[in-house]
Amino acid sequence: MLYGALEAGGTKMICALGDENGRILEQISLPTIEPSVTMPRIIEYFRDKEITGLGIACFGPIDLNPNSATYGFITTTPKLKWANFNIVRTMKEALHIPIGFDTDVNGSLLGEVCYGAAKGLENVLYLTIGTGVGGGVMANGRLLHGMLHPELGHITMLPHPSDSYRGHCPYHGICFEGMAAGPAIEERWGRKGAELADLPEVWELEAYYIAQALKNLILTLSPERIILGGGVMHQLQLFPMIRASVLTQLNGYLDTKELRDIDHYIVPASLHDDQGIMGCIKLAIDAAALSA
Ligand code: ADP
Ligand code: ZN
Repeated sequence: MLYGALEAGGTKMICALGDENGRILEQISLPTIEPSVTMPRIIEYFRDKEITGLGIACFGPIDLNPNSATYGFITTTPKLKWANFNIVRTMKEALHIPIGFDTDVNGSLLGEVCYGAAKGLENVLYLTIGTGVGGGVMANGRLLHGMLHPELGHITMLPHPSDSYRGHCPYHGICFEGMAAGPAIEERWGRKGAELADLPEVWELEAYYIAQALKNLILTLSPERIILGGGVMHQLQLFPMIRASVLTQLNGYLDTKELRDIDHYIVPASLHDDQGIMGCIKLAIDAAALSA
């Protein structure tokens, strides 16, 4: 059986074919331009592939509520050409197959839960820290959607006493994304994160903010594992700093086997940046199974 996977990102669209084990058989990348240009190319790729289902993990905000009139839409995105675009219906009308649809970060989370660092767990948090900060949550074995979907990148941060930076988020200034995403690092320190690898103060501060967010998310969501991905997390020296800072900020309040083994609790994404597309394959498998 062949499944289609579409990882729809703000800069590129990855189209892939996968099998029932989540294996990627082939993939292409197309630039995200505007729907009238990009969608025909995507449809062209999938049209003669005889896929049984399609999984789409999409940048957002998106409407995930199957009972909503705008289900399947990209809604209020600042990428204006894509605002109010019905990506699910466009693919459905072209391919006539079952379609699974979720956020980009839930796609990555699903990939890690099914095939990677969180295999078999039912309560998992996935954060991506890159151009923005996104968060996906699995709770009791299900991807959490709720009213819209979690927007963990915009939770409030308490600034570090040594940090006078005003934050990069146009909505909130000093939210998590505003203080800790790649553009915030670049604006605060005057250079891109990749060029700051040798400056420990950059990563100590970064770890402080990520750990502050994790402290709050551990307390609210009680995840059994936390996976951190995205461009900024390529600075692997962050991991021990984040783990230590989480324990400091929790200040002994929680005592669980997971926190006692924190090196295996807060971990990097494990699927070599294929977690998103593998999650899409799983979304496709599930959508096909549901309609069978
Ligand atoms: P996106 O979030 O756009 O999908 P990425 O996850 O690659 O893409 O994130 C890009 C952001 O991460 C940029 O702000 C970039 O400066 C930062 N970044 C990318 N690679 C590194 C690195 N090795 N170290 C630190 N920051 C990085
Ligand atoms: Zn914000």
